[in-house]
Amino acid sequence: MIDFRALAEKYDTPLYIYDFEHISRRYEELKKAFSGKKSLISYAIKANSNLSVISHLAQMGSGADCVSIGEVRRALMSGIPKYKIIFSGVGKRDDEIEEALKEDILLLNIESEAEMERVGKIAAELGIAARISIRVNPDIDPGTHPYISTGLHENKFGVDIETAKRMYIQANNSTCLDPVGIHFHIGSQLTELEPIKEAAAIVADLVRSLKAIKVDIRFFDVGGGLGIVYDDEKTIKPYDYAQAIFSVLHGLDVTVVCEPGRFMVGNSGFFLTRVLYEKVNEGKRFIIVDGGMNDLLRPSLYNAYHRVEVLGKSGACSEADLVGPVCESGDFFAKSRMLPATEPGDLVLVHSAGAYGFVMASNYNSRPRPAEVAVIDGKKERCIRVRESFEDLIRLEKMCL
Ligand SMILES: *Cc1c(COP(=O)(O)O)cnc(C)c1O
Repeated sequence: MIDFRALAEKYDTPLYIYDFEHISRRYEELKKAFSGKKSLISYAIKANSNLSVISHLAQMGSGADCVSIGEVRRALMSGIPKYKIIFSGVGKRDDEIEEALKEDILLLNIESEAEMERVGKIAAELGIAARISIRVNPDIDPGTHPYISTGLHENKFGVDIETAKRMYIQANNSTCLDPVGIHFHIGSQLTELEPIKEAAAIVADLVRSLKAIKVDIRFFDVGGGLGIVYDDEKTIKPYDYAQAIFSVLHGLDVTVVCEPGRFMVGNSGFFLTRVLYEKVNEGKRFIIVDGGMNDLLRPSLYNAYHRVEVLGKSGACSEADLVGPVCESGDFFAKSRMLPATEPGDLVLVHSAGAYGFVMASNYNSRPRPAEVAVIDGKKERCIRVRESFEDLIRLEKMCL
């Protein structure tokens, strides 16, 4: 049991807390599910990019999926070997491409013909062949929130099958491109297996037809997106996930790459905040806490559900909105939730805040970002990012008048 009260005393609130043991269990669970085949688990760093989180996963053998050169640098700094690092993303700058190629990472994920041309040019200038994979958009509706669905033609990610084929042929004929992988990622917080299997089958067929024309795909990257429990979702079991993917790969000798972000860290994390006061407006009850949407944006951005718990209170509950102090009506953590009466100073724990939590935090309203604490082996705790100060907020600003 994590002693949240002690952590609040020591580090103050609002505070992020991550259970590293939980992260280990998730990694092991997924690795085991894929153990029947060559596999690489590349943690999607954007979900939680704290260096300690990455290095914890690096020690377990994880690779990294990065969406900026900053994330590539974090991965390298955290001890992830370069041959386990993938650079994805719909728009990469020339300097990012050049640095990634010089670092000799496993592969660059290409999302358009124009991008492939840029990568080819830069690789030629460096006198190397760039290992690439192409992100295919299999046009599958994953049945998730429109903001986090990415596998339909109407959104900006990847290229369609026909374009991909053309690109592979072109890349195969180029001395500065080495097309070794294929990639798809149909969305986030996926809770149904069927769309993933369908997408994998479409992409596996493409790999077979590429093989017939001498394009030898060695990395079959199924993206991330495995959903987790926030409320009462039925989620996909890692074993079933792996089996579904294996089932479409018959006859193909490939390394399966998967890029889980949320699955790896989401449920390991807590956001701890303190009650400032309660108020009632025309019969509606509000609990106002010291954490805000600038610290944890998911409820405001996606209308996402997070379980919330007032620590040490078990009295009668009534409906309330749990809100922050930021000057926006969208600043809330929970709406119309049954919660006990609170007093100033009570601690409120927001569950499943380990993914897309701190990484989306901002300084809006001149609020310093929270500290982050890791709980190791269930009890030992370490501060893995100190709370920002006012001085941090203004450090880069200049007063020119
Ligand atoms: C965001 C992203 C992931 C991770 O998504 P999760 O839902 O957190 O698992 C993996 N791969 C790519 C290409 C992504 O953009």
